[in-house]
Amino acid sequence: MYVRGVGPRVAELLAAKGIQTAGDLLYHLPFRYEDRQNPRSIDELQPGETASVIAEVRGSALLRTRRMPLFELTIGQGRRALKCIWFNARYLEGKFHPGQTVAVYGRLEPSRSSSNLKMIQPQYEALPDESADAETRLLEVGRITPVYESLGGSRLASRWQRKTIFNLLESLRGCVSECLPQAMLNRLDLPGREAALREVHFPPEGTPFAQLQGFATPAHRRLIFEELFFLELGLELKRRRMRERAGIAFATTDRVREALREVLPFHPTAAQKRTLGEIVADMRQPSPMRRLLQGDVGSGKTIVAFQAMLVAMENGYQAALMAPTEILATQHFLAARKLLERSSRKPRVVLLTGSLDDDRKRSIRGLINRGEAQLVIGTHALIEEKVEFDRLGLVVVDEQHRFGVLQRFKLMKKPNQPEPDVLVMTATPIPRTLALSLYGDLDLSVLDELPPGRIPIVTRRVAGERTQEVWNFVRKQVALGRQAYIVYPVIEGSKEDQPERDFYLDEAEDGLAPHVSVARKIARRSKGAELFPEAVQESYPASKSGLKSATEMYEKLRAGPLAGLRIGLLHGRLDADDKDVIMRRFQRGEIDVLVATTVIEVGVDVPNANVMVIEHAERFGLAQLHQLRGRVGRGAAKSYCLLLTGDRVSPLGEERLNAMVRTRDGFELAELDLAQRGPGEFFGTRQAGLPEFRVANLVRDRKSLELAKQEAARFAATSGAEATEGERAQVRAQLKDAWQRRYGLVEAG
Ligand code: ADP
Ligand code: MG
Repeated sequence: MYVRGVGPRVAELLAAKGIQTAGDLLYHLPFRYEDRQNPRSIDELQPGETASVIAEVRGSALLRTRRMPLFELTIGQGRRALKCIWFNARYLEGKFHPGQTVAVYGRLEPSRSSSNLKMIQPQYEALPDESADAETRLLEVGRITPVYESLGGSRLASRWQRKTIFNLLESLRGCVSECLPQAMLNRLDLPGREAALREVHFPPEGTPFAQLQGFATPAHRRLIFEELFFLELGLELKRRRMRERAGIAFATTDRVREALREVLPFHPTAAQKRTLGEIVADMRQPSPMRRLLQGDVGSGKTIVAFQAMLVAMENGYQAALMAPTEILATQHFLAARKLLERSSRKPRVVLLTGSLDDDRKRSIRGLINRGEAQLVIGTHALIEEKVEFDRLGLVVVDEQHRFGVLQRFKLMKKPNQPEPDVLVMTATPIPRTLALSLYGDLDLSVLDELPPGRIPIVTRRVAGERTQEVWNFVRKQVALGRQAYIVYPVIEGSKEDQPERDFYLDEAEDGLAPHVSVARKIARRSKGAELFPEAVQESYPASKSGLKSATEMYEKLRAGPLAGLRIGLLHGRLDADDKDVIMRRFQRGEIDVLVATTVIEVGVDVPNANVMVIEHAERFGLAQLHQLRGRVGRGAAKSYCLLLTGDRVSPLGEERLNAMVRTRDGFELAELDLAQRGPGEFFGTRQAGLPEFRVANLVRDRKSLELAKQEAARFAATSGAEATEGERAQVRAQLKDAWQRRYGLVEAG
């Protein structure tokens, strides 16, 4: 449809932001509001608060400091003045002129030189003056004004969006179709779609401001519910469809039970027995299993998975285990071979990874295809190499959050064969309600107990100046026959320094950086750095100089504090063979100290290693720290996790380190992590193939998520009995659209 203000060029810009239809634009909601009806007075501002202020420009200047140019803007109300500062903001020169009215929004910091407050890196907007057209004034002055994330530079910033969306809503008056059944809306006391859209963009007078900022108005609640409802409905229908497919009903005869007992190297915990019971009960059903096995690091998921695979093999089927990295695949391969040595049947185990040479791959593919390999362990290569199994019975995916491949298993089986069972394992302690809702198409088993005899890991923070003591401690432990990991956030100290994975940028690099980090966080929270494009990029030095790197410290430690010990270096840039060799040598105890990056984070199991030293610990995310710590405390010896920090730790960093010292409970840490990073980063949305929401937020809207799940289940179970025929058609259409366009899963229909 034609939208006023959107020509072909603008349409292109919008499309790049994922906005392709008028509907997409309407669902691009303001991320905050400005109360221009009741503006704040400069007098009442408090240090530390984030506020919006409307005032008159008094003057501005570009100041040259030794570090970087600062742009300073002075604004005032009557006799009171407020200074605003931007770093590296040459681009602001000439943007403001005295007498102009501006709205600024940002955090207030105490000023060093005077008692006045100053605002650091605020967002700003010049208010329209008398010469502006009536419409602009109507939308921006003396009312609650929506503020949007820019859709493309200053051209498509808030002002453009207000106008365009306002006009769009006007032209659609009475024509926005409802997508939820009226009876449901009545029951849940939610407004209709058109009213909700109108009110989130242009809140009616008297809307409580706090409710608006909290996305908690009825209009917001309606749109949040709508989005989550269609996610949940899609998951629910997928799950129901899967139940209807032909799967394999595995038998658990006495022979199978005996085979399971044969391989067990230890007494399973009660939780391991229970979860295996749940899995096997699923496997006995004639419909395909889709189950998530969730268990904190070290809870013993591997043996449970091997036993499930053994059930498949004993039934004459093949089993496949997919790991996220070659290190892990290899480790599982070795463990499986060792475990299955005790089995009287001695199934053939093969390893298939991307780094094998072509001949080897071909011959392994042949073994799999002819059914001569019963247990296949590998990486992505299992899917990518177009392996066709002879009789695939069970697929186990380890650490699913690293890759979203659930839809692609079809590729692995022969076309005329039944659907294999699938077990997904994750060590991410996703809070249960979230897990149930997000993996609504999976059933959930939780390993909530650690194997017995574990001695609690001693976790300590160590200040930078005491590193020598740490190295002495490492030497002492090695002398006792133990092994240690020493982990760094980056591989090399070069300019292109790349951390292995998501890396924290909220810490101070220099005296100015805390402010920048605030700006960055605001920018991040509003999804994208557009708000202050230049500022954010330039004030973040490309090289994270001052960070110790694995490569550099490997050399230093070898030559100095740890001289004489056998030291290995492991990081993501080594080729697969080298990684493999080093990992094996560490596993066999031929390396005492492994200097590494977070490549060792997931799953690596070397029970003799009992010291985990993490340098620049404040730089790591909680999930990473927790995973890293989980690498030790796996054997009988007392284990230590030493968190070395630099001298500047941000408040968020402090919170993470304190949490690590305080608790080992993965769920507790996950809650904090979720709160700190937000759901997008927490779940690594893109990698995991999880939905990206445009309105909902999984931290803020957990209640709505549960409600949506209930309502979706009810709708599916009753085939929408509450709705009219026309409403059901609308629900179907919206579901299809949501799943195709937003979640990229075309199969839902
Ligand atoms: P994760 O859940 O992190 O994958 P693993 O399966 O690697 O955990 O198990 C962690 C360690 O605990 C391994 O060394 C494993 O052999 C051991 N383990 C698992 N279950 C038990 C048990 N019931 N009793 C004793 N040790 C166990
Ligand atoms: Mg594991």
